[in-house]
Amino acid sequence: MLLSDRVMSVRPSGVRKIFDLANKMKNPINLSIGEPDFDIPDPVKEEGIKWIRAGFNKYTPSGGIQELREKLLYHLKRKNIICDDVIITAGATGGLLLSLMVTMNPGDEVIIPDPYFVLYEYQIMLLGGKPVFIDIYPDFTIKEDALREAITDKTKIILINSPNNPTGAVCSKEELEMVARVAKEKNLIVFSDDIYDKFAYMNNADKVYLGQLYDKTLTIGGFSKTWAMTGWRLGFVAGPKEIIQYMVTMQQYVFSSVNSFAQKAALLALDYNTDSLIEGYRRKRDLIYDGLKDKYNVVKPEGAFFIFPEVPGGDGDKFVEKALENNLFIIPGSVFSSRKSNVRISFAAGEEDLLKGIDVLRKMA
Ligand code: PLP
Repeated sequence: MLLSDRVMSVRPSGVRKIFDLANKMKNPINLSIGEPDFDIPDPVKEEGIKWIRAGFNKYTPSGGIQELREKLLYHLKRKNIICDDVIITAGATGGLLLSLMVTMNPGDEVIIPDPYFVLYEYQIMLLGGKPVFIDIYPDFTIKEDALREAITDKTKIILINSPNNPTGAVCSKEELEMVARVAKEKNLIVFSDDIYDKFAYMNNADKVYLGQLYDKTLTIGGFSKTWAMTGWRLGFVAGPKEIIQYMVTMQQYVFSSVNSFAQKAALLALDYNTDSLIEGYRRKRDLIYDGLKDKYNVVKPEGAFFIFPEVPGGDGDKFVEKALENNLFIIPGSVFSSRKSNVRISFAAGEEDLLKGIDVLRKMA
């Protein structure tokens, strides 16, 4: 046998066929994309180029360059996130992997609200852990009863992603306080994937972070969404010093260190406000929500750049195949969930494509 048992635990994707079909399309209306449709702001690009030219191209320390760690810590503390150290990681993806590596034993359970970002499930399984899903349909809010029911003596972590991929839902203050209270009572670690924190369309005053509420929280973030730096692979994790220090050690063996020039550019990015770029997404959110709400069962997204309507007939896989026949590329909900009743539509797209997409979706309803 050439392959490891680990590889066998990764389920072959049932939606392969859909992606194969989509790949063959010449010029689809593409509402499938999980990254901003704006580019990295020019000054941030220039800063990266400057440091490449200056020869800042070698390995950096495993925890990341000191000035970026300090600056991030300052920013997080200003948001009242409880943390005393930060590690720079290869995207939030690298941050999640290291977080799991240093906190989760094989056999440990990680509670995740379903629908969820698909990477969580596989990272946990690849490390021998067990994802335990709590179904949060149809309103995408976490209920205390369901959370408590999912907890066993094997539970180690609760993983929350707000604003959420794929639903666009943002947890309320009450929900987050409930999660923090339960985690504290049961002595669990909380992972808070805050990668979309700037993409939140409610009032600033309503913004709450799990990291503000509970000291055993690992706050995971990054530069991929707010500054569109997806390809530069830069993220971070903040939390208790003893956990972060082990992550730094682990990083030596897993990633060595992360992108050198991107860290320098990130120092500038932290001072570069992209609110005006992100503001456009509120309008796009309104466009798509208003375009779908009378035809579909759909929750208004308060964040990220996704909307997750239920489809007529309840088969999102079939619905996506049909959408492809109409030149529209969206993602089946089954990619993100044990249910297949919904589809994920990204509004990180040009307005023209968005309007065309809405048109197709209204006809298909
Ligand atoms: N977390 C969520 C919820 C995401 O949607 C994504 C990317 O789509 C990531 C993490 C990964 O981000 P990064 O590019 O920083 O690895």
